[in-house]
Amino acid sequence: MTKQRRVVYSILLENRDHPTANDVFRRVQREMSTISLATVYNCLDALSKHGLINQVNFDREPSRFCVNPAPHVHFRDTRTGVIHDIAFKEGCQITDLLDLPDGAEVSELELTISGDLPANP
Ligand SMILES: [Zn+2]
Repeated sequence: MTKQRRVVYSILLENRDHPTANDVFRRVQREMSTISLATVYNCLDALSKHGLINQVNFDREPSRFCVNPAPHVHFRDTRTGVIHDIAFKEGCQITDLLDLPDGAEVSELELTISGDLPANP
């Protein structure tokens, strides 16, 4: 892993709020003022290819990045725009929910849902 990739990865681990590449760029700049946006994109791409992070896409918005390695889906609160990691209920798997053909094996999961969360009382 290059120094830049390590810094980008540690920035992602620090604050797991599903930042965009631009968010990551601004945060990395505080530690590495000379880094370019293109380098940040390259680092994010490399980290994705190595399976350390996942890209999260909502419609036509810029991709966001997630470091949570556990199987989960993304829930976007339409009121605040905050993206939450939602785990499966105990003992439940994605294959329990889908009418997949016999023998099909899921190798990748990308599921995003949106809705309203109750406002904090
Ligand atoms: Zn996530």
